[in-house]
Amino acid sequence: MGQPHHPDPGDYPVTLMSNVRESLAAIEALPLPRTVRILNLCGDQERIISVSEMRRALPRQVELVSGPGCAASICPEADIHQAICLSERQPVTVLVADNLLRLPLSRGNGARRSLSDAQRLGADVRVASAPIHAVMMARAEPDREMVYFVAGFETLLAPLAGMVLEGLPDNLSILLCGRRVEPLVEQELHDETGDIDALLLPGNRCAVTGTRQWEKLSADFRRPAVVAGYTSPNILSAIHMVLQQHCNGEVRVDNLYRGLVRPEGNALARDQLDRVFELVAGDWRGLGAVQGTAFRMRRTYDVFNADRRFPDYRSELLPDAGGMPDGCECAAVALGRKPPLACPLFLVRCTPQQPYGPCMASDDGACYLQRTA
Ligand code: SF4
Repeated sequence: MGQPHHPDPGDYPVTLMSNVRESLAAIEALPLPRTVRILNLCGDQERIISVSEMRRALPRQVELVSGPGCAASICPEADIHQAICLSERQPVTVLVADNLLRLPLSRGNGARRSLSDAQRLGADVRVASAPIHAVMMARAEPDREMVYFVAGFETLLAPLAGMVLEGLPDNLSILLCGRRVEPLVEQELHDETGDIDALLLPGNRCAVTGTRQWEKLSADFRRPAVVAGYTSPNILSAIHMVLQQHCNGEVRVDNLYRGLVRPEGNALARDQLDRVFELVAGDWRGLGAVQGTAFRMRRTYDVFNADRRFPDYRSELLPDAGGMPDGCECAAVALGRKPPLACPLFLVRCTPQQPYGPCMASDDGACYLQRTA
């Protein structure tokens, strides 16, 4: 028997509607029999959906579910603990992206800490908003040992891989929480835990990875999917397209991020990712380990790996490691199993000013983004 044919996303005609009103009217005209749950996987798309109040504008049968689109929200406690310990116990500067700074650590005894707390108590913790900034900061102080603590998906990891291949400054190493989301989504669809009907795929990430694996998932689990961009009209057009598929009983991956997304992805970026990282089982905070979801630096690049350069303090957290603060529903929120509003702490004990859980502490987290929903 031959291999099943998965058509290219470019094989189908697409209609990018020119404005929001036209898209909403087209969506309202669809014969939607019941609630359709569409999972999105990207913090940037969730930000546009939330800021534009798209959920309120859509018909009530269309449910936009925020999925695992924020790497910071699912960064394991053990990695946060490791970064805090390095900043406090080693003569190093910890460089960190904004969205990791306030991530709370629950130690099982009620005490909660973050890198921001460590900074306030005197540790040298500084914000580096992109890999290139971390390199520039390390170059500016060559006598100071620096660790770049970073969490992200392929869009962040591909440029990081390129910089590792070119060679980082001697005084810079990386503490990495890099994640690949496809195996996690496959697990969710297989278990049918989230009751998801369709997928809204991130244009920027698909531009790196391509759409082949999504085409397979879409076909295997009979879920229509669409690659979307980063404007309200584009996302609404994408929602319309995937709903059309759903109504017609069709299953494929449509592409509304044309010109940037090809089925095979970006060959150079994929090659760099592959040369620098290997995929291993990865812990998702509150969920446990999922095979093939963590990017780990290959041994060839040990010299840039903070885990090889410094002591490992993660075991101090065991056996409590991996959980969420008591009462926090972030693990369910991050997977799209529950909306932020279902958490009793949402905007009560957990606010942007005083975040209790990671989905509120990160500005890409679902609870933070939906605080005005
Ligand atoms: Fe966790 Fe706060 Fe979100 Fe509740 S509102 S799930 S405590 S981050």
